Amino acid sequence: MESIRTHEGDIRLCRTCGQPCYDAETEIGPMWQHFREQWDGIYCARHPLADQNPIKIEWDSHSLDTLKAKYPDTCPARV
Ligand SMILES: [Zn+2]
Repeated sequence: MESIRTHEGDIRLCRTCGQPCYDAETEIGPMWQHFREQWDGIYCARHPLADQNPIKIEWDSHSLDTLKAKYPDTCPARV
C-alpha cells in the first residue's frame, strides 16, 4: 500500500466509503485500492481494495496538496 502523502498519480474517491483511492498493479492486475493511512481507521466493505469505478475528481493542485497533507493517518509507525 502506498502513502497518500507521496502518491504521484491519480486520486479518486471510492463509491463505497467516499475515501480517496489510487490505481496500482496487484497480482490480479491493476486495481483501485485504499491508501496505507486508511489501513483500519475508516470502514470500507471493500478495503483494502476500493470500488473499481471510483469517482473522478478534478483536483486543483492546492486542494490535492491539502488532502495529502491533512488526510488522517491511523497507521501505526513502522519500526
Ligand atoms: Zn472504500
